[in-house]
Amino acid sequence: EERLVSPVAEQIEPVDHALRPKSLDQYIGQEQLKGNLAIALKAAQARGEALDHVLLHGFPGLGKTTLAYVIANEMGANIRVTSGPVIERAGDLAAILTSLQEGDVLFIDEIHRLNHVVEEILYPAMEDYQLDLVIGQGPGARSVKMDLPRFTLVGATTRTGLLTPPLRDRFGMVLRLDFYTPAELVTIVKRSATLLGVPMDEGGALEIGRRSRGTPRIANRLLKRLRDFAEVKAQGSITAQVANEALNMLGVDQEGLDEMDRRILLTIIDKFQGGPIGLETLATMACEEKTTLEDVYEPFLIQMGLLMRTPRGRMATPAAYAHFDRPFTGRQDV
Ligand code: ADP
Repeated sequence: EERLVSPVAEQIEPVDHALRPKSLDQYIGQEQLKGNLAIALKAAQARGEALDHVLLHGFPGLGKTTLAYVIANEMGANIRVTSGPVIERAGDLAAILTSLQEGDVLFIDEIHRLNHVVEEILYPAMEDYQLDLVIGQGPGARSVKMDLPRFTLVGATTRTGLLTPPLRDRFGMVLRLDFYTPAELVTIVKRSATLLGVPMDEGGALEIGRRSRGTPRIANRLLKRLRDFAEVKAQGSITAQVANEALNMLGVDQEGLDEMDRRILLTIIDKFQGGPIGLETLATMACEEKTTLEDVYEPFLIQMGLLMRTPRGRMATPAAYAHFDRPFTGRQDV
């Protein structure tokens, strides 16, 4: 099922390198993170060394992959891109590591999904630039040690808590990406519109910025959908009115919530008197995976102040009731 405002990249969605900022200057928002990163980049360059390993954590679509490319670009280095689930065997990782060149950036998306055999190859590689591999099994097994070039590992994950402590500890820098402000998203979507040659006025940009859940991937996706809409229905230009009509038609409401968000909140409000309700129950009622609820839907609803995580479960806030024009009838004693 396609979800327009999903922050997760669609399988079929082409990787949009055209819209990706290439340098730290072009990378909008995340000011504190950029400040820290800029210092580390300068220092590494001054010493003529590879940058320390970086762990990026943040919800899908906030710009982790983009940032990995930016880091490589700023270091004047090549980047190799892979992901946790793709590296199945120790040998797969060994092949990647031995093919790296001095200073290269290795980006591993969803690094928390590496299996433990592979993860253990990574420890000495990160720490001492050593490959430590056992080849074969039983009495014939032998151990191979090899020096690796000095590389920078950039790992990405949604939550640092998903990493094992030994892996987490081997990153010199841990950087967190936050949701973007509507103003930052307006800047992003304007830049994208210029790159794509889509006519859009200030009002159109504001409308998209406000309704893309703090997430650049969603802002860019809405822009593309609205471009189609504007071409067919409104002489090509995205104005506030065109954006508003199109987004309403696409089921994206004034706050950027979609069908599923509303289903989640209304389940809690209507069927559980506002909660608290356990994650398990909520997932069953909403027909969604628990991890998807936790990583994709909940973060934004919490950020918006519509949902609350309490030790006893999820609760709809008074703001959630207000969102549906209802008087608050939930519990206040939890
Ligand atoms: P993640 O890896 O966190 O899921 P991506 O790096 O793939 O997210 O970013 C999704 C899209 O959003 C990219 O195609 C990029 O064009 C855009 N994007 C992300 N961060 C920024 C940013 N800071 N400024 C401008 N565009 C961004």
